[in-house]
Amino acid sequence: MTRPFNFSAGPATLPQEVLQQAAAEMLDWRGCGMGVMEMSHRGKEFISIAEQAEADLRSLLAIPANFKVLFMQGGAIAENAILPMNLSRGGRADYVVTGSWSQKSAKEARKYCDVHVAASNEADQHTRLPSPSSWQLSDNAAYVHVCSNETIHGVEMHTLPDLAALGSTAPLVIDCSSHILSRPIDWSRVSVAYGGAQKNIGPSGLTLVIVRDDLLGQALPITPSAFNYQTVADNGSMYNTPPTYAWYIAGLVFQWILRQTEPTPEGPVTGLAAMEARAIRRAGMLYDYIDNSGFYVNKVAREGRSRMNIPFFLLDESRNDAFLTGAKAEGLLQLKGHKSVGGMRASLYNAMPVAGVEALIAYMKHFAATHG
Ligand SMILES: *Cc1c(COP(=O)(O)O)cnc(C)c1O
Repeated sequence: MTRPFNFSAGPATLPQEVLQQAAAEMLDWRGCGMGVMEMSHRGKEFISIAEQAEADLRSLLAIPANFKVLFMQGGAIAENAILPMNLSRGGRADYVVTGSWSQKSAKEARKYCDVHVAASNEADQHTRLPSPSSWQLSDNAAYVHVCSNETIHGVEMHTLPDLAALGSTAPLVIDCSSHILSRPIDWSRVSVAYGGAQKNIGPSGLTLVIVRDDLLGQALPITPSAFNYQTVADNGSMYNTPPTYAWYIAGLVFQWILRQTEPTPEGPVTGLAAMEARAIRRAGMLYDYIDNSGFYVNKVAREGRSRMNIPFFLLDESRNDAFLTGAKAEGLLQLKGHKSVGGMRASLYNAMPVAGVEALIAYMKHFAATHG
């Protein structure tokens, strides 16, 4: 079956093979007589699904043994509150604002701790990353929070800050919702990584929190038990019933990533390296075309351009509706930009084939040629 290419920012396209496998297993998971949605989370079948998924994620991201992987709910927006409840001890936390998502995180955290905005690119309309050397970090922050890929503004940190080199001893927390599993995470710099699943992992409803174990056990007393990282960790993410089906699909996606290979000039690479090589290739193709088109423009400073979310504008914005209608007719879906930014946005997550970007560029060329 050939399906349209879906450029949604999230919930987003999933690998077709994964959807087909899930469909085949829908009524009866591997001969046990039950579908995954229908099984107890404490039964041996689901425990095996859950354990395999965690093991595969640990292997893909090379997660060190002293980090816990929590399969939670509520999305990254709930984490905006859950994180300060768990980590701030009611004191100060530093936030770096680089776009809508980190701004939202800082705003919510103010309910639970003393938020210090250490840097902001708001004056640049969130189009360039403030250099870490310019960040005004506190001496006593419980943590420093960044959004490592701003899904709406299309700004990505290609290097995570080395807080120790900046004179801070605070743990670094990253909201990596929209680029997790598209590149490695440097765990020598990161103490907590969290993200909703619906961009690069699986269905909405699942939130991953990967947290260094020495940061557990300091939650504010008001923290709901189901959101206390220590409680969740002690119960293997089964203090409350986890989002079992989303966990299962995430596991199928991890297996799919492990099977992927991608050619590079140095030879073929597999797994996470394949995801990164493919992301570089996809994004490179689209940015190159946009920059040289004379018809479309991306406003993000080059060094901060996201590989995953590429906002772009038609120079003549009166053509926007025609562009979107024509795209849909060509099987290119969900290209409308976020309402706060306008224009268009192509999200190129792991499950987007290179052929999807080729089809998008071919359409953009044709549209420019016929509307120029
Ligand atoms: C999508 C997104 C969120 C919000 O996720 P929810 O699941 O709606 O809570 C937060 N941060 C980033 C970076 C995102 O891409």
